[in-house]
Amino acid sequence: MTIKKYRQYFINSLEDLYSIEELQSIFYLLAEKLLHLSRIDITLQLDDTLTSDEEINFNQAIDRLKIYEPVQYILGETEFFGYPFLVNKQVLIPRPETEELVSWIIEDVDKKETTILDIGTGSGCIAISLAKKLNNAVVSAIDISNKAIEVAKKNALINNVNVEYSSVDVLNFEDKLVLQDKWKSKFDIIVSNPPYVRMQEKKLMQLNVIDHEPDIALFVEDDDPLLFYRRISELSRQYLKHNGTLYLEINEYLGVEMEKMLNEAGFKHVELKKDMFGKNRMIKCW
Ligand code: GLN
Repeated sequence: MTIKKYRQYFINSLEDLYSIEELQSIFYLLAEKLLHLSRIDITLQLDDTLTSDEEINFNQAIDRLKIYEPVQYILGETEFFGYPFLVNKQVLIPRPETEELVSWIIEDVDKKETTILDIGTGSGCIAISLAKKLNNAVVSAIDISNKAIEVAKKNALINNVNVEYSSVDVLNFEDKLVLQDKWKSKFDIIVSNPPYVRMQEKKLMQLNVIDHEPDIALFVEDDDPLLFYRRISELSRQYLKHNGTLYLEINEYLGVEMEKMLNEAGFKHVELKKDMFGKNRMIKCW
């Protein structure tokens, strides 16, 4: 089949599930990856015939798209802050809101040496983008998941930065002792995008997220949605320098509760910031 014919077949197979615009852009993303061609070359070579292997690969992608698997997992990669990131089902796909959190930090940091800790690093998108942008930063990152850390390590490598990774469960007391050994000096910045979606919000979410992204990175119990933030704020009291700053991505519905909790935890200044969609999405406090 020619690329042109296959493109039509691809769209016909999925048009009940996705919009035509979405399918066109997904088709080009897949074609770039599977045919090793640029978008321009694909348009110029629409009459070329696909090999049977190429068709098999495309057909497999169609099957995965039919069950709403995100195209980023199918491709195994995505972009965050203009940098390439490998992703698989062990890590959340980086979100545009999180790019705004990274921008906020970069705007605030002056050029001097800054030490940064990213809690719950996942794909490593926050820690690695900060290490790329802030030349003098010394960046550490932790995650409960060893499999996520494997992905983050690869991402540090392909982006050519140094990040020190440790596998730590911030809710676990034993791990707390490990930290005491590890971090003798404190951090200028602690940043985190922890799980914050309440179970009750699950029904509002898309199947591509619910069925394919890691629950462990997303969900918290309805009766204690700030669990991770409380723990992170405790850790910050211990590991943040006196004039250091804590940056958090937060649940859009819990801004007020977050402010209150952080004030009670001893942060005198708490600044809430909206994302590009006008939702309370980020906090910085010191
Ligand atoms: N913003 C993500 C979502 O809505 C959630 C990220 C998180 O829980 N930290 O899918």
